[in-house]
Amino acid sequence: MPGLEDLYREIILDHYRTPRNRGELAPPAVMAEGHNPLCGDEITIYAQVENGVLVDVKVSGQGCSISQSSASMMSQAVKGKSLAEIQALIHRFKVMMSIEEDSDEAPAVEVKMGDLEALQGVVKFPVRIKCAILSWNTLLQALENASA
Ligand code: ZN
Repeated sequence: MPGLEDLYREIILDHYRTPRNRGELAPPAVMAEGHNPLCGDEITIYAQVENGVLVDVKVSGQGCSISQSSASMMSQAVKGKSLAEIQALIHRFKVMMSIEEDSDEAPAVEVKMGDLEALQGVVKFPVRIKCAILSWNTLLQALENASA
């Protein structure tokens, strides 16, 4: 029986080889670009927000397997979610990456990590955390552009 680490590796490779929600969106969708110079990762996020819901999201870019699979998993996790749910998910992900402290307060909205749990091993490699978090910070930027 394969171990959890093998399973996680498979999930990451699957998203890297077959990225979900790949492409671009035309205006009125907004976009934001992120760059991780340490690794050379580039991510562009296109976001279409309607009535406080991220109705569509697309990802383009190139880089290492961690950056690209994280972006793919993120797009799958946030599509169709309310902005409040997305904020909660971003927080959970940053807690998993040891970037933000977990709060004692009960979360305002239920968050399911799904495939994203496959990235939890990344926290053992601090230099790769920047790869994993790139698409999330880029999404935040895109959502700020959407509300601007
Ligand atoms: Zn990278």
